[in-house]
Amino acid sequence: MNTKPGTKCIHEGWKPQNGQPRQLPIIQSTTFPYATSDDMGKLFDLEAEGYFYTRLQNPTNDMVAAKICALEGGVAAMLTSSGQAANFYAVFNICNAGDHFIASSSIYGGTYNLFGVTMKKMGIECTFIDQTLPIEELEKYIKPNTKCIFGETITNPTISVFDFEKFATLAHKHGMPLIIDNTFATPVNCRPFEFGADIVTHSTTKYIDGHGVSVGGCIVDSGNFDFAAYGDKFPGLNTPDDSYHGIIYTERFGKGAFITKATSQLMRDLGSIQSPQNAFYINLGLETLHVRMREHCANALTIAKYLKAHDKVAWVHYPDLEDDEYNALAKKYLPNGSCGVLAFGLKGGREQSIKFMDSLKFASIATHVADSKTCLLHPASHTHRQLSEQQLKEAGVAPDLIRLSVGIEDVGDIIADIEQALDGIVIE
Ligand SMILES: *Cc1c(COP(=O)(O)O)cnc(C)c1O
Repeated sequence: MNTKPGTKCIHEGWKPQNGQPRQLPIIQSTTFPYATSDDMGKLFDLEAEGYFYTRLQNPTNDMVAAKICALEGGVAAMLTSSGQAANFYAVFNICNAGDHFIASSSIYGGTYNLFGVTMKKMGIECTFIDQTLPIEELEKYIKPNTKCIFGETITNPTISVFDFEKFATLAHKHGMPLIIDNTFATPVNCRPFEFGADIVTHSTTKYIDGHGVSVGGCIVDSGNFDFAAYGDKFPGLNTPDDSYHGIIYTERFGKGAFITKATSQLMRDLGSIQSPQNAFYINLGLETLHVRMREHCANALTIAKYLKAHDKVAWVHYPDLEDDEYNALAKKYLPNGSCGVLAFGLKGGREQSIKFMDSLKFASIATHVADSKTCLLHPASHTHRQLSEQQLKEAGVAPDLIRLSVGIEDVGDIIADIEQALDGIVIE
């Protein structure tokens, strides 16, 4: 039955049979025993399917990955211990030392650092590009050793919308996959595979969990990118893996090759597994994701309009506003709403911005976004505080930018809190 996202949020993944637990069981076990040595040996050779050690796979985690996979419309998925691990594994699964890839310069700061600093030390080079450039300009950055393009559906903290069709066309013309971090939109509001993306990642820490209780990540493969067609470009998927008696992932696993390799090599060796307990929490979050996203978007739009009309507010950036520069892309790719995060600036600069934030009653200052509680951050004073005004500009972060993650409290109360804080600031 082809169900809608709201039904998938509740019924995909764990599907109990007669008399089994109705809620997803937490299989809190490191190990899974077998009767014969031969049974176990087959698992180690990837000849049989089955669980043997939770660092590689765990049934609770797999059920939750299956739910996210169904929501995204993919063929295979895996959970990771964090969004950082998901983005690292997704790229490292196809990039070796000496390879190059392209990423939007507007991506999340943690990912920017991972790609630009840490992976560079591993010999993998990332070029950060302005995602608004036309395709002919972007093409100039592609080299013979470029292996993938990476972007975010909605960027953090500048809240711009990614142009999937432009980048999918570019990536596929040059025989490489498009990897998308879909954290802010969630599969309820956007399914990047429908617009040509090949691999999707998530920080499940954000809306998918939704209550600020567990750090986690996920990778989903659409199965659409034909890695076998580019054998020279992706040797890791197309040449024998000596650590598994010479199996070739694309030959043995077909559309499941990407995730099987990431699980059986990267998770085996690097071990960023999510705990089954945390997977249980994100499954609970998923059960209400569709309801919460509706409320987050409705509240954020109401607040964006309120701020826009306020005479102490200099500017507001939220893609669902009709006159926002990303509204056309939002209408195309996020017709049901974007997310609950918006950015705005106050007249009166840094000092008044800080006074405003310090005067809020229940909206808290937190290095977090995308959960039930309204919170906000001033990147120039917090996450990006080491940067000069010039560097802030290059990162696309205005010195007066306040990132507001609108929660699902009563919207009238959120506005009242913002209003009393705005009343206290002075603008000459
Ligand atoms: C938070 C975040 C990450 C990193 O996720 P963690 O779960 O904190 O490791 C990656 N991408 C985006 C868009 C994020 O917001």
